[in-house]
Amino acid sequence: MSAPTFCMVDDKYVPLWRVMWVSKTPHFCGEDDCQCEGCYEVRLEQDEAVWATSKEERDGVLKALEEWGSGYGPGEGPWEGQ
Ligand SMILES: [Zn+2]
Repeated sequence: MSAPTFCMVDDKYVPLWRVMWVSKTPHFCGEDDCQCEGCYEVRLEQDEAVWATSKEERDGVLKALEEWGSGYGPGEGPWEGQ
């Protein structure tokens, strides 16, 4: 079985290797015209971000990252031999 390399955020397939971090809490900045209020930020490389619109979606990203990160078997990671 191959590990996932993309996850779905909003309506976009996001390559997992581009994800820098995922927000634990919903976005809130108080700005009237904010389009991302209550969404979970998924930060990408190069100052880009996509927004997960629900906790379930955010969790889906985390799960995909986890599976992707564990695509290496025990002792087979890129950190092996360090
Ligand atoms: Zn905002």
